[in-house]
Amino acid sequence: MPPVALSDSNTQLIQLDEHPGNRQQGNRQPAPQNGSRSNPGSSSTCSSALADSPWLFDAEPGYGPGASMDDPAPYHAPRQPGLPAEYRNASAEELDQRIRRAKAALGERLVILGHFYQRDEIVQYADFIGDSFQLAKAALTRPRAETIVFCGVHFMAETAAMLARPDQTVILPNLAAGCSMADMADRDAVTDCWEQLTALLGEEADAAGRQPVLPVTYMNSSAALKAFCGEHGGVVCTSSNARTVLEWAFARGQRVLFFPDQHLGRNTARAMGIPLSQMAVWDPALPMGGLSVQALRDARVLLWHGYCSVHMRFTVEQIAAARHRYPGVQVIVHPECTMPVVDAADASGSTDFIVNAVAAAPPGSCFAIGTEINLVRRLAAQYPQHTIFCLDSIVCPCSTMYRIHPSYLAWVLEALERGEVLNRITVPEATAAPARLALEAMLKLAPKARQGAA
Ligand code: SF4
Repeated sequence: MPPVALSDSNTQLIQLDEHPGNRQQGNRQPAPQNGSRSNPGSSSTCSSALADSPWLFDAEPGYGPGASMDDPAPYHAPRQPGLPAEYRNASAEELDQRIRRAKAALGERLVILGHFYQRDEIVQYADFIGDSFQLAKAALTRPRAETIVFCGVHFMAETAAMLARPDQTVILPNLAAGCSMADMADRDAVTDCWEQLTALLGEEADAAGRQPVLPVTYMNSSAALKAFCGEHGGVVCTSSNARTVLEWAFARGQRVLFFPDQHLGRNTARAMGIPLSQMAVWDPALPMGGLSVQALRDARVLLWHGYCSVHMRFTVEQIAAARHRYPGVQVIVHPECTMPVVDAADASGSTDFIVNAVAAAPPGSCFAIGTEINLVRRLAAQYPQHTIFCLDSIVCPCSTMYRIHPSYLAWVLEALERGEVLNRITVPEATAAPARLALEAMLKLAPKARQGAA
Protein backbone atom coordinates (compact mmCIF):
# COMPACT_ATOMS: atom_id res chain seq x y z
CA MET A 1 0.00 0.00 0.00
CA PRO A 2 1.44 3.42 -0.90
CA PRO A 3 2.16 5.96 1.84
CA VAL A 4 -0.68 8.40 2.40
CA ALA A 5 -1.07 11.77 4.02
CA LEU A 6 -4.05 11.79 6.33
CA SER A 7 -6.77 14.37 6.57
CA ASP A 8 -9.99 14.33 8.53
CA SER A 9 -11.74 16.07 5.67
CA ASN A 10 -10.33 13.64 3.08
CA THR A 11 -9.37 16.49 0.78
CA GLN A 12 -5.73 15.68 1.14
CA LEU A 13 -5.14 12.01 0.46
CA ILE A 14 -1.76 12.07 -1.20
CA GLN A 15 0.83 9.53 -2.19
CA LEU A 16 3.96 10.85 -0.59
CA ASP A 17 6.22 9.38 -3.24
CA GLU A 18 4.61 11.76 -5.72
CA HIS A 19 5.78 14.82 -3.79
CA PRO A 20 8.44 16.75 -5.66
CA GLY A 21 10.06 17.43 -2.30
CA ASN A 22 10.44 13.76 -1.53
CA ARG A 23 11.98 13.03 -4.90
CA GLN A 24 14.39 15.91 -4.57
CA GLN A 25 15.42 15.56 -0.97
CA GLY A 26 15.27 11.83 -0.41
CA ASN A 27 17.59 10.57 2.28
CA ARG A 28 20.42 12.92 1.65
CA GLN A 29 19.38 16.09 3.37
CA PRO A 30 21.37 16.03 6.63
CA ALA A 31 19.96 19.12 8.34
CA PRO A 32 18.07 22.33 7.62
CA GLN A 33 20.15 24.24 5.10
CA ASN A 34 20.57 27.93 4.71
CA GLY A 35 18.49 29.63 2.05
CA SER A 36 15.83 26.94 1.67
CA ARG A 37 13.83 27.34 -1.51
CA SER A 38 10.66 26.75 0.46
CA ASN A 39 11.31 29.68 2.77
CA PRO A 40 12.16 32.82 0.81
CA GLY A 41 13.21 34.58 3.99
CA SER A 42 15.26 31.86 5.66
CA SER A 43 18.88 32.74 6.16
CA SER A 44 20.23 30.77 9.09
CA THR A 45 19.53 28.06 11.63
CA CYS A 46 18.92 28.64 15.33
CA SER A 47 21.74 26.27 16.28
CA SER A 48 24.76 25.02 14.36
CA ALA A 49 24.39 21.81 16.40
CA LEU A 50 21.39 20.91 14.22
CA ALA A 51 23.96 19.55 11.79
CA ASP A 52 25.23 17.13 14.44
CA SER A 53 23.94 13.61 14.97
CA PRO A 54 21.22 13.24 17.63
CA TRP A 55 23.14 10.59 19.61
CA LEU A 56 25.58 13.31 20.58
CA PHE A 57 22.76 14.78 22.71
CA ASP A 58 20.51 11.84 23.50
CA ALA A 59 22.14 10.63 26.69
CA GLU A 60 22.45 14.14 28.11
CA PRO A 61 19.79 16.07 30.03
CA GLY A 62 18.02 18.69 27.92
CA TYR A 63 16.11 18.79 24.68
CA GLY A 64 19.06 19.39 22.39
CA PRO A 65 19.33 21.76 19.42
CA GLY A 66 16.19 23.28 17.96
CA ALA A 67 13.29 25.32 19.25
CA SER A 68 13.18 23.75 22.74
CA MET A 69 16.90 23.93 23.47
CA ASP A 70 16.46 26.56 26.21
CA ASP A 71 13.55 24.77 27.93
CA PRO A 72 14.41 23.09 31.23
CA ALA A 73 13.93 19.34 30.87
CA PRO A 74 12.56 17.38 33.85
CA TYR A 75 14.99 15.03 35.53
CA HIS A 76 12.80 12.06 34.59
CA ALA A 77 12.73 12.87 30.85
CA PRO A 78 13.55 9.62 29.02
CA ARG A 79 17.04 9.31 27.58
CA GLN A 80 18.18 7.13 24.74
CA PRO A 81 21.35 5.25 25.57
CA GLY A 82 23.69 3.37 23.32
CA LEU A 83 22.97 3.32 19.61
CA PRO A 84 25.36 0.68 18.22
CA ALA A 85 28.32 2.02 16.24
CA GLU A 86 27.30 0.25 13.05
CA TYR A 87 24.24 2.53 12.91
CA ARG A 88 26.03 5.66 14.08
CA ASN A 89 28.71 5.22 11.45
CA ALA A 90 26.53 4.11 8.53
CA SER A 91 26.25 6.40 5.52
CA ALA A 92 22.90 7.83 4.45
CA GLU A 93 22.91 5.48 1.44
CA GLU A 94 23.59 2.41 3.58
CA LEU A 95 20.86 3.36 6.07
CA ASP A 96 18.43 3.90 3.23
CA GLN A 97 19.11 0.42 1.86
CA ARG A 98 18.88 -1.21 5.28
CA ILE A 99 15.61 0.52 6.19
CA ARG A 100 13.99 -0.34 2.86
CA ARG A 101 15.16 -3.94 3.04
CA ALA A 102 13.96 -4.42 6.63
CA LYS A 103 10.64 -2.75 5.89
CA ALA A 104 10.11 -4.99 2.86
CA ALA A 105 11.00 -8.08 4.89
CA LEU A 106 8.56 -7.17 7.66
CA GLY A 107 5.82 -6.46 5.10
CA GLU A 108 2.30 -6.07 6.44
CA ARG A 109 3.41 -6.98 9.95
CA LEU A 110 4.78 -3.44 10.22
CA VAL A 111 3.26 0.02 9.91
CA ILE A 112 5.42 3.15 10.08
CA LEU A 113 3.74 6.42 11.11
CA GLY A 114 5.31 9.82 10.38
CA HIS A 115 4.17 13.03 12.04
CA PHE A 116 3.76 16.15 9.91
CA TYR A 117 6.74 17.69 11.74
CA GLN A 118 9.17 14.89 10.96
CA ARG A 119 12.14 15.48 8.73
CA ASP A 120 11.88 14.27 5.14
CA GLU A 121 14.61 11.66 5.63
CA ILE A 122 12.10 9.86 7.90
CA VAL A 123 8.79 10.73 6.27
CA GLN A 124 9.87 9.00 3.09
CA TYR A 125 9.56 5.62 4.87
CA ALA A 126 6.19 6.31 6.50
CA ASP A 127 3.05 4.44 5.51
CA PHE A 128 1.01 7.35 6.82
CA ILE A 129 1.77 10.98 7.51
CA GLY A 130 -0.54 13.10 9.64
CA ASP A 131 -1.08 14.62 13.05
CA SER A 132 -0.77 12.60 16.23
CA PHE A 133 -4.36 11.51 16.57
CA GLN A 134 -4.88 10.79 12.87
CA LEU A 135 -1.82 8.56 12.98
CA ALA A 136 -2.96 6.66 16.06
CA LYS A 137 -6.25 5.93 14.30
CA ALA A 138 -4.55 5.14 10.98
CA ALA A 139 -2.62 2.29 12.57
CA LEU A 140 -5.94 0.58 13.29
CA THR A 141 -6.63 0.38 9.56
CA ARG A 142 -3.76 -2.12 9.17
CA PRO A 143 -5.21 -5.24 10.79
CA ARG A 144 -2.15 -7.33 9.99
CA ALA A 145 0.28 -4.86 11.53
CA GLU A 146 1.79 -6.41 14.65
CA THR A 147 4.14 -3.48 15.20
CA ILE A 148 3.57 0.27 14.95
CA VAL A 149 6.75 2.30 14.63
CA PHE A 150 5.76 5.84 15.55
CA CYS A 151 8.10 8.47 14.12
CA GLY A 152 6.91 11.27 16.36
CA VAL A 153 7.33 12.06 20.05
CA HIS A 154 6.66 10.20 23.27
CA PHE A 155 3.08 11.27 24.05
CA MET A 156 2.05 10.33 20.52
CA ALA A 157 3.45 6.81 20.90
CA GLU A 158 1.65 6.53 24.25
CA THR A 159 -1.66 7.52 22.66
CA ALA A 160 -1.11 5.00 19.86
CA ALA A 161 -0.33 2.31 22.46
CA MET A 162 -3.57 3.05 24.34
CA LEU A 163 -5.66 2.93 21.17
CA ALA A 164 -3.88 -0.06 19.63
CA ARG A 165 -5.10 -3.63 19.83
CA PRO A 166 -3.68 -5.61 22.75
CA ASP A 167 -1.62 -7.71 20.35
CA GLN A 168 0.02 -4.68 18.72
CA THR A 169 3.38 -3.30 19.82
CA VAL A 170 4.27 0.39 19.60
CA ILE A 171 7.88 1.50 19.16
CA LEU A 172 9.39 4.98 19.44
CA PRO A 173 12.72 4.81 17.54
CA ASN A 174 14.42 7.28 19.89
CA LEU A 175 13.26 7.46 23.53
CA ALA A 176 14.74 10.95 23.84
CA ALA A 177 12.06 12.23 21.45
CA GLY A 178 9.82 13.74 24.10
CA CYS A 179 7.90 17.01 23.92
CA SER A 180 8.95 20.00 25.95
CA MET A 181 5.38 21.30 26.14
CA ALA A 182 3.97 17.99 27.35
CA ASP A 183 6.76 17.87 29.95
CA MET A 184 5.62 21.22 31.39
CA ALA A 185 2.70 19.54 33.18
CA ASP A 186 3.16 16.30 35.05
CA ARG A 187 0.76 14.27 37.16
CA ASP A 188 2.24 15.37 40.49
CA ALA A 189 2.04 19.08 39.68
CA VAL A 190 -1.50 18.83 38.31
CA THR A 191 -2.61 16.80 41.33
CA ASP A 192 -1.11 19.43 43.62
CA CYS A 193 -2.99 22.15 41.72
CA TRP A 194 -6.20 20.14 41.89
CA GLU A 195 -5.94 19.68 45.64
CA GLN A 196 -5.43 23.41 46.16
CA LEU A 197 -8.39 24.24 43.93
CA THR A 198 -10.59 21.69 45.61
CA ALA A 199 -9.67 23.02 49.05
CA LEU A 200 -10.69 26.50 47.95
CA LEU A 201 -13.67 25.82 45.72
CA GLY A 202 -15.03 22.60 47.18
CA GLU A 203 -16.32 19.60 45.25
CA GLU A 204 -20.06 20.24 45.30
CA ALA A 205 -21.84 20.76 42.00
CA ASP A 206 -23.95 23.89 41.57
CA ALA A 207 -27.71 23.93 40.92
CA ALA A 208 -27.06 23.22 37.23
CA GLY A 209 -25.04 20.12 38.13
CA ARG A 210 -21.71 21.66 37.17
CA GLN A 211 -18.68 20.66 39.21
CA PRO A 212 -16.47 23.54 40.46
CA VAL A 213 -13.58 22.72 38.12
CA LEU A 214 -13.39 20.39 35.14
CA PRO A 215 -9.98 19.30 33.78
CA VAL A 216 -9.27 19.42 30.05
CA THR A 217 -5.97 18.23 28.66
CA TYR A 218 -4.57 18.85 25.22
CA MET A 219 -3.66 15.73 23.27
CA ASN A 220 -0.06 16.88 23.69
CA SER A 221 0.22 15.54 27.22
CA SER A 222 1.31 12.36 28.95
CA ALA A 223 -0.98 9.37 29.35
CA ALA A 224 -0.91 10.07 33.09
CA LEU A 225 -2.60 13.44 32.54
CA LYS A 226 -5.17 11.98 30.18
CA ALA A 227 -5.87 9.49 32.96
CA PHE A 228 -6.19 12.35 35.47
CA CYS A 229 -8.89 13.86 33.28
CA GLY A 230 -10.67 10.53 32.95
CA GLU A 231 -10.67 10.15 36.74
CA HIS A 232 -12.11 13.62 37.34
CA GLY A 233 -14.90 13.82 34.76
CA GLY A 234 -12.67 15.60 32.25
CA VAL A 235 -11.76 15.20 28.63
CA VAL A 236 -9.00 15.40 26.02
CA CYS A 237 -9.01 17.95 23.21
CA THR A 238 -7.06 18.49 20.02
CA SER A 239 -6.24 21.74 18.27
CA SER A 240 -9.07 21.00 15.81
CA ASN A 241 -11.81 20.39 18.33
CA ALA A 242 -10.77 22.53 21.31
CA ARG A 243 -13.78 24.83 21.02
CA THR A 244 -16.31 22.00 20.87
CA VAL A 245 -14.61 20.31 23.79
CA LEU A 246 -14.64 23.51 25.87
CA GLU A 247 -18.34 24.00 25.14
CA TRP A 248 -18.92 20.44 26.40
CA ALA A 249 -16.76 21.15 29.44
CA PHE A 250 -18.62 24.33 30.40
CA ALA A 251 -21.90 22.41 30.37
CA ARG A 252 -20.38 20.23 33.12
CA GLY A 253 -18.04 22.54 34.96
CA GLN A 254 -18.17 26.06 36.37
CA ARG A 255 -14.50 26.45 35.46
CA VAL A 256 -12.06 24.65 33.23
CA LEU A 257 -8.50 23.79 34.19
CA PHE A 258 -6.76 23.60 30.82
CA PHE A 259 -3.29 22.05 30.45
CA PRO A 260 -0.55 22.04 29.34
CA ASP A 261 -0.72 24.71 26.58
CA GLN A 262 -1.92 28.08 27.82
CA HIS A 263 -2.04 29.54 24.31
CA LEU A 264 -4.40 26.99 22.79
CA GLY A 265 -6.62 27.41 25.84
CA ARG A 266 -6.56 31.20 25.74
CA ASN A 267 -7.06 31.49 21.98
CA THR A 268 -9.94 29.03 22.06
CA ALA A 269 -11.69 30.53 25.08
CA ARG A 270 -11.42 34.04 23.72
CA ALA A 271 -12.87 32.93 20.36
CA MET A 272 -15.82 31.63 22.40
CA GLY A 273 -16.34 35.12 23.81
CA ILE A 274 -14.82 34.55 27.24
CA PRO A 275 -13.07 37.78 28.27
CA LEU A 276 -9.42 37.74 29.31
CA SER A 277 -10.53 39.04 32.72
CA GLN A 278 -12.10 35.60 33.31
CA MET A 279 -8.90 33.72 32.47
CA ALA A 280 -5.91 33.25 34.76
CA VAL A 281 -2.57 31.50 34.34
CA TRP A 282 -1.70 28.90 36.96
CA ASP A 283 2.03 28.85 37.62
CA PRO A 284 2.80 25.45 39.19
CA ALA A 285 6.00 26.82 40.74
CA LEU A 286 4.04 29.19 43.00
CA PRO A 287 1.64 28.59 45.93
CA MET A 288 -1.96 28.78 44.69
CA GLY A 289 -0.53 29.10 41.21
CA GLY A 290 0.52 32.67 42.01
CA LEU A 291 -3.15 33.73 41.97
CA SER A 292 -5.33 35.46 44.53
CA VAL A 293 -8.37 33.75 46.01
CA GLN A 294 -10.57 36.26 44.20
CA ALA A 295 -8.85 35.63 40.86
CA LEU A 296 -9.37 31.89 41.28
CA ARG A 297 -13.03 32.33 42.20
CA ASP A 298 -13.62 34.69 39.26
CA ALA A 299 -11.80 32.62 36.64
CA ARG A 300 -13.75 30.58 34.15
CA VAL A 301 -10.57 29.28 32.51
CA LEU A 302 -7.45 28.40 34.46
CA LEU A 303 -4.58 28.07 32.01
CA TRP A 304 -1.55 25.97 32.88
CA HIS A 305 1.74 27.79 32.46
CA GLY A 306 2.84 25.69 29.47
CA TYR A 307 3.79 26.50 25.90
CA CYS A 308 5.32 25.10 22.73
CA SER A 309 8.70 26.65 22.04
CA VAL A 310 8.31 25.95 18.32
CA HIS A 311 5.21 28.12 18.10
CA MET A 312 6.47 30.74 20.56
CA ARG A 313 9.02 31.74 17.94
CA PHE A 314 6.39 33.42 15.77
CA THR A 315 5.84 37.13 16.29
CA VAL A 316 3.61 39.98 15.19
CA GLU A 317 6.71 41.64 13.68
CA GLN A 318 7.31 38.62 11.45
CA ILE A 319 3.73 38.89 10.20
CA ALA A 320 4.16 42.59 9.46
CA ALA A 321 7.38 41.85 7.57
CA ALA A 322 5.68 39.12 5.52
CA ARG A 323 2.81 41.43 4.60
CA HIS A 324 5.28 44.16 3.63
CA ARG A 325 7.34 41.87 1.44
CA TYR A 326 4.43 39.89 -0.06
CA PRO A 327 1.34 42.11 -0.36
CA GLY A 328 -1.73 39.89 -0.36
CA VAL A 329 0.00 37.08 1.51
CA GLN A 330 -2.30 34.85 3.58
CA VAL A 331 -0.92 34.36 7.06
CA ILE A 332 -1.97 31.12 8.76
CA VAL A 333 -0.69 30.17 12.19
CA HIS A 334 -1.18 27.32 14.62
CA PRO A 335 -3.28 28.08 17.74
CA GLU A 336 -0.28 27.19 19.94
CA CYS A 337 1.03 30.63 18.90
CA THR A 338 0.51 33.56 21.27
CA MET A 339 -2.77 35.48 21.17
CA PRO A 340 -1.29 38.62 19.51
CA VAL A 341 0.13 36.43 16.73
CA VAL A 342 -3.19 34.65 16.23
CA ASP A 343 -4.93 38.04 16.18
CA ALA A 344 -2.53 39.41 13.57
CA ALA A 345 -2.87 36.35 11.30
CA ASP A 346 -5.59 35.86 8.69
CA ALA A 347 -6.45 32.45 10.08
CA SER A 348 -5.36 29.98 12.73
CA GLY A 349 -5.87 26.26 12.95
CA SER A 350 -4.42 22.82 13.45
CA THR A 351 -1.86 21.22 11.16
CA ASP A 352 -4.73 19.57 9.33
CA PHE A 353 -6.42 22.96 8.88
CA ILE A 354 -3.20 24.43 7.48
CA VAL A 355 -2.66 21.52 5.08
CA ASN A 356 -6.24 21.77 3.82
CA ALA A 357 -6.10 25.57 3.42
CA VAL A 358 -3.07 25.25 1.18
CA ALA A 359 -4.59 22.36 -0.78
CA ALA A 360 -7.79 24.30 -1.44
CA ALA A 361 -6.08 27.52 -2.58
CA PRO A 362 -6.07 28.56 -6.26
CA PRO A 363 -2.70 28.45 -8.10
CA GLY A 364 -0.48 31.43 -7.44
CA SER A 365 -1.54 31.80 -3.82
CA CYS A 366 0.97 33.08 -1.30
CA PHE A 367 1.13 31.74 2.27
CA ALA A 368 3.20 32.71 5.28
CA ILE A 369 2.79 29.87 7.75
CA GLY A 370 3.44 29.82 11.46
CA THR A 371 4.13 26.22 12.33
CA GLU A 372 7.02 23.73 12.40
CA ILE A 373 9.47 24.15 9.53
CA ASN A 374 9.37 20.57 8.23
CA LEU A 375 5.65 20.79 7.47
CA VAL A 376 6.06 24.20 5.84
CA ARG A 377 8.92 22.98 3.66
CA ARG A 378 6.97 19.91 2.63
CA LEU A 379 3.95 22.00 1.65
CA ALA A 380 6.20 24.32 -0.36
CA ALA A 381 7.68 21.36 -2.22
CA GLN A 382 4.29 19.76 -2.74
CA TYR A 383 2.64 22.93 -4.09
CA PRO A 384 5.21 24.63 -6.34
CA GLN A 385 2.33 26.58 -7.92
CA HIS A 386 2.11 28.61 -4.68
CA THR A 387 4.60 30.73 -2.79
CA ILE A 388 4.84 29.20 0.67
CA PHE A 389 7.25 30.16 3.39
CA CYS A 390 7.70 29.96 7.13
CA LEU A 391 7.02 33.16 9.08
CA ASP A 392 10.26 32.66 10.99
CA SER A 393 13.26 33.37 8.76
CA ILE A 394 15.50 31.35 11.10
CA VAL A 395 15.22 27.63 10.52
CA CYS A 396 14.51 26.11 13.94
CA PRO A 397 12.79 22.70 13.98
CA CYS A 398 11.15 20.99 16.94
CA SER A 399 14.11 19.74 18.99
CA THR A 400 12.53 16.45 19.89
CA MET A 401 10.88 15.53 16.59
CA TYR A 402 14.33 16.01 15.15
CA ARG A 403 15.72 13.22 17.34
CA ILE A 404 14.18 10.59 15.06
CA HIS A 405 17.06 9.91 12.71
CA PRO A 406 17.33 7.18 10.03
CA SER A 407 20.02 5.47 12.14
CA TYR A 408 17.45 4.84 14.90
CA LEU A 409 14.82 3.70 12.42
CA ALA A 410 17.25 1.20 10.87
CA TRP A 411 18.21 -0.01 14.36
CA VAL A 412 14.65 -0.77 15.53
CA LEU A 413 13.56 -2.27 12.19
CA GLU A 414 16.50 -4.65 11.91
CA ALA A 415 15.95 -5.73 15.52
CA LEU A 416 12.31 -6.41 14.70
CA GLU A 417 13.41 -8.63 11.84
CA ARG A 418 15.37 -10.69 14.36
CA GLY A 419 12.28 -10.85 16.57
CA GLU A 420 13.65 -8.32 19.06
CA VAL A 421 11.49 -5.38 20.19
CA LEU A 422 13.47 -2.25 21.08
CA ASN A 423 12.09 0.97 22.60
CA ARG A 424 8.62 -0.40 23.20
CA ILE A 425 6.17 2.18 24.59
CA THR A 426 3.59 0.79 26.99
CA VAL A 427 1.01 2.36 29.25
CA PRO A 428 -0.06 0.42 32.37
CA GLU A 429 -3.73 -0.51 32.23
CA ALA A 430 -4.35 1.38 35.49
CA THR A 431 -3.41 4.54 33.57
CA ALA A 432 -4.69 3.55 30.14
CA ALA A 433 -8.24 2.74 31.32
CA PRO A 434 -9.08 6.21 32.73
CA ALA A 435 -7.11 7.86 29.92
CA ARG A 436 -9.32 6.08 27.40
CA LEU A 437 -12.37 7.45 29.24
CA ALA A 438 -11.13 11.00 28.58
CA LEU A 439 -10.32 10.14 24.96
CA GLU A 440 -13.71 8.51 24.47
CA ALA A 441 -15.44 11.58 25.94
CA MET A 442 -13.77 13.56 23.16
CA LEU A 443 -14.62 11.02 20.48
CA LYS A 444 -18.30 11.10 21.43
CA LEU A 445 -18.32 14.73 20.34
CA ALA A 446 -17.70 13.62 16.73
CA PRO A 447 -18.85 14.26 14.07
CA LYS A 448 -19.66 17.74 15.40
CA ALA A 449 -15.97 18.31 15.95
CA ARG A 450 -13.12 17.22 13.74
CA GLN A 451 -10.57 15.39 15.81
CA GLY A 452 -7.29 16.45 14.21
CA ALA A 453 -4.42 17.11 16.60
CA ALA A 454 -1.19 19.01 16.54
S1 SF4 B 1 6.15 21.10 18.07
FE1 SF4 B 1 5.86 21.76 20.21
S2 SF4 B 1 4.09 20.58 20.97
FE2 SF4 B 1 4.83 19.58 19.05
S3 SF4 B 1 6.25 17.97 19.76
FE3 SF4 B 1 7.50 19.81 19.34
S4 SF4 B 1 7.62 20.87 21.34
FE4 SF4 B 1 5.95 19.39 21.49
